[in-house]
Amino acid sequence: MGLAFLMASLVLLDVLVTSVLYHRSLAHRAVIFNRWLARSLTVYMQGMAFAPPLTWIATHTLHHAHTDTPRDPYSPRVHGFLAVFFGTAVLVSLWRRRHGGAAVDRLTRSVPDRAFLAFCERRPACFAITGSFIAAFVLAFGWLGLLLYVLQLIGFYLIVGWANSAGHTLGERPFHGSATNRSPGVLPALMNACMFGEWLHGYHHRYPARANFGMAGEFDAGYFVCRVLARLHLATFPGARAHDPIPAPARTR
Ligand SMILES: [Zn+2]
Repeated sequence: MGLAFLMASLVLLDVLVTSVLYHRSLAHRAVIFNRWLARSLTVYMQGMAFAPPLTWIATHTLHHAHTDTPRDPYSPRVHGFLAVFFGTAVLVSLWRRRHGGAAVDRLTRSVPDRAFLAFCERRPACFAITGSFIAAFVLAFGWLGLLLYVLQLIGFYLIVGWANSAGHTLGERPFHGSATNRSPGVLPALMNACMFGEWLHGYHHRYPARANFGMAGEFDAGYFVCRVLARLHLATFPGARAHDPIPAPARTR
């Protein structure tokens, strides 16, 4: 019971860090974190999810620039719903293998603190950081720790896969106010809470530079965390109105 709770907490923490750091800060620069906080969280994501930051940013940049076209690295409309749900990480790795480091460099040239991210991106650093985290799990919990590590990894990538697969399958195009944003009821609200705002996928595609994905009053827990960090002087919002809600377009059906 205790380990199950810990696993669920780790999955949620992974999703939160991905949402606020990799997604909102590094990829979209909707919020800028204190350099050492950003570096610490990058190492955390490397350790917990084996997620090279520059490759993540490069593929996400293409995901927005070429949404649901063959150049989108993880579109369910191109690769299939199940492939994206279960295999977003695999699709990203395949993209990296196919296009190489030169494409990653080209797409991430202007990312802040790039030298540090490039260091984390290098294969020896990736393996060293991830290996250290796995070793820490085993030291803390024995072989159950290894199981815990693997399960949190699977849980994390399933949530990421769900955001990408369902977010691009449900609702209207071009993402004015898709079903992922506007479905009423407890379940969508719960999913949104567990995904720290990433369930509001349609709004995010409509206004990718906004730190707040809850544009019609929905609660965006990831944005809430960014606001708390800003209060603590650990984050800033570079856009003058990056955090303001935007009235959502009228429902079309
Ligand atoms: Zn995005």
